[in-house]
Amino acid sequence: MPPHIRRAAELRDAGCVFAGCQAPTWFCDVHHLLHWAHGGETSLGNSALLCERHHTKVHSGYRVQRVGDRWRTWRPDGTEILIATTRLRT
Ligand SMILES: [Zn+2]
Repeated sequence: MPPHIRRAAELRDAGCVFAGCQAPTWFCDVHHLLHWAHGGETSLGNSALLCERHHTKVHSGYRVQRVGDRWRTWRPDGTEILIATTRLRT
């Protein structure tokens, strides 16, 4: 992971992108939405910040995807995780 992509992801995502998660950037890994082994590229568009707990989740059936200018999260059964409040980004 080139450092400039990590920095760009930190600026854009400001922390874990999983619905409702408040984990700060220093808690997070950069996750590849599409793994490089499956043709995913190392770019900001293919990257998401996820904390360790949620990184494990997206590797066991959960899914995050950027839609427009926000992240959406789906459970393994295909239902979306919706949160009522907007996360504060400081
Ligand atoms: Zn998280």
